[in-house]
Amino acid sequence: MNTGDLLTNAARSYPDHPAFIFEGESRTYAESCARADAWARALLAGGLQRGDRVALYLRNCPEFLETLYGTWKAGGVVVPLNATFTADELAWHLADSGATVLLTDAEGLPAVAKARPDLPGLARVVCHDPGAARPELPADELLDQTLAAQSGEPLVSVDVAENDLAWIAYTSGTTGRPKGAMLTHRVLIYQCLTTLADVERMDQTHVGMHAAPLSHGSGHNSLAFTMKACTQVIHQRWGFDTALFLEQVERYRVAAMFLVPTQIKMIVEHPDLPNRDVSSLQWICYGGAPMYREDQKRALKALGPVLVQCFGQTESPMSGTVLTRDEHSLHDGDGRERSVGRVRVGIELKILDPEGNEVPPGEAGEICLRGPTLMAGYWNRPEATAETLAGGWLHTGDVGMVDSHGYLFILDRLKDLIISGGLNVYPHEIEDVLITHPAVSEACVIGVPHEKWGEAVHAVVVPVEGATVDPAELISWSGQYLAGYKKPKSVDVVDALPKTTYGKVAKREVRAPYWAGLGRN
Ligand code: AMP
Repeated sequence: MNTGDLLTNAARSYPDHPAFIFEGESRTYAESCARADAWARALLAGGLQRGDRVALYLRNCPEFLETLYGTWKAGGVVVPLNATFTADELAWHLADSGATVLLTDAEGLPAVAKARPDLPGLARVVCHDPGAARPELPADELLDQTLAAQSGEPLVSVDVAENDLAWIAYTSGTTGRPKGAMLTHRVLIYQCLTTLADVERMDQTHVGMHAAPLSHGSGHNSLAFTMKACTQVIHQRWGFDTALFLEQVERYRVAAMFLVPTQIKMIVEHPDLPNRDVSSLQWICYGGAPMYREDQKRALKALGPVLVQCFGQTESPMSGTVLTRDEHSLHDGDGRERSVGRVRVGIELKILDPEGNEVPPGEAGEICLRGPTLMAGYWNRPEATAETLAGGWLHTGDVGMVDSHGYLFILDRLKDLIISGGLNVYPHEIEDVLITHPAVSEACVIGVPHEKWGEAVHAVVVPVEGATVDPAELISWSGQYLAGYKKPKSVDVVDALPKTTYGKVAKREVRAPYWAGLGRN
């Protein structure tokens, strides 16, 4: 199936149902499908061939999603790029992917203008931004012309094979330059089905929300919402505004979404939460970073039994394991609520030691996954592909262990592991303890250089508003819960931790000043 047909099918079944709500305006499935078809026709008229890459470098808006589906309908491959990329980063990603068409917005145009002279392969730049002064072809004119010329009949999508590429998802991976994970139409359709298994009773009467950049996880979630013809509220063009989020949940009766743990924490701590009606919430899928037990407990208390935890990565988008809504309650207090659940249907999991041997339940090693949601490889990176997909298994770079019932526990990223005096320390375990201290709101634990032990455990913490953290007190307090070698040896107190645009703590950035000139990143 061409993934673009998810939108065609929804428009056939529910033409007048609102598809996208953005900045207070809504568009029906019939309207959005017609716009996706117009985009596809414009691409085809411009000579797009099956497998050609179309880059999307713009902030969240309905056009992002319409062009996503339209590009697939035309047989193209979408390359969503982070809208905050600098001109250099943009040029690098466009050159690497070999994109021939680029859709951007007014905010993206200056970087595009800078990058473009170095990109002879980039044949066409289209700008979406009503009213903005722009030298490039305005998307709205292009769509209006094509819309006027189209007959009203939905476009018959270009035939694609299940292993044809649909999406190149750039990830910084574990090492070096970003790499493009190649996701096929089959991967996307499977991912959509696994998401639907998590939100098992969701149908067109439910409203979904996109509260993260569409270029990452939220774009993937659109597939499941579209398959069920749900109305999709696009939170805002960029960033996350907790007060606006709560207002939108109440106004549109939002039921489902994907969030990273930091966003859930912001919602739970927001002073407006008790005054808002969030009773429509049914499924908050979360993942992408560790959820601390303390935050999880508070979220369940504040929002009710609506949490669904997913584990995966760009190379197998959030489709490795799941801890369902019911399992959050079922295992409350028995330890399994701290896990990321069990593998999904059709996925296999094994834990390998550094020599590549499978380890028994209860022992830690690298988490490896196999199944239909795995990327086809990295775009133009045969060596990295061979390494990451060695033996047909996705080597995730995450350390974890399974228990006797198959529940997976993530210990940490391999690259974040601290080796202190020859002993392995998993920062996540220490952060989990530190945030239970009444004065600590957020914690990030890293290894810092140490003459004797190689690395020493160091914590960087953000205090709870109005509270003061005393480093010496925090260190001695943590000794009640952590063995001596795990206990932080030093603590820095900061106002905020650096975060990625997706809301994850940017550990590499936290580490950098401590390792300047010493070669660890
Ligand atoms: P990304 O490729 O940006 O989606 O990041 C994937 C990484 O995020 C994984 O390799 C894990 O290290 C982390 N991650 C994803 N889901 C979870 C989860 N549920 N709990 C803890 N870490 C997670």
